[in-house]
Amino acid sequence: MTKIVILTGAGISAESGMGTFRDKGGLWSQVRLEDVATPEGFARDPGRVQAFYNMRRVAAKAARPNAAHRALALLQRDWPGDVVIVTQNVDALHEAGGARDVIHMHGELARALCGNCGHRWDAPDEMAAGECCPACDAPAARPDVVWFGEMPYHMDRIYGHLAEATVFVAIGTSGQVYPAAAFVQEAAAAGAHTVELNLEPSAVVSDFAETRLGKASEVVPAWVAEMLRR
Ligand SMILES: [Zn+2]
Repeated sequence: MTKIVILTGAGISAESGMGTFRDKGGLWSQVRLEDVATPEGFARDPGRVQAFYNMRRVAAKAARPNAAHRALALLQRDWPGDVVIVTQNVDALHEAGGARDVIHMHGELARALCGNCGHRWDAPDEMAAGECCPACDAPAARPDVVWFGEMPYHMDRIYGHLAEATVFVAIGTSGQVYPAAAFVQEAAAAGAHTVELNLEPSAVVSDFAETRLGKASEVVPAWVAEMLRR
């Protein structure tokens, strides 16, 4: 049985209106990631961090899945083996496009996390500084997203899937954020065929056996159609 492991990044959601991070004009050229995406930034100014994620949560709610999200859901439905989707994205566009069991390694905008007791719950649209946890009542509610300097979620499961992959595909990732940027090496070491689908070559493009460049809404459905014709 063949297993396809897919890693997706901001590039797959860009055409749905969610900004990318490291491109020219991307989010990290507009706000300092140190201010809004680190535990230290949250400790310094929780109101600013909550406002940033409130804004992104609203944008994510308004966004609609594009042809790339839908194509991956189709692959998951019709491929005779396993199709595992691992995403760095905190939006829910894979699920909205019909995908199942998506592994959100960087958390989810739609969820809240207590920094005190670890309780998780559905985030309200607006969160404020000092918001209280419904389980322990500590004023420690934060977005359930993984910040720089924090350990991504589900790493054991992800490495387990990479060790069993026969095909590994990275879609719309910059290749600049670890550990995700090293997944291609893990998969290749396990014998997987590796493919990068991206608007522009990533920082780790030379690690892939095959690269296809173009808009996600075009290259992803084309690749999926090809896989399903095999
Ligand atoms: Zn709590």
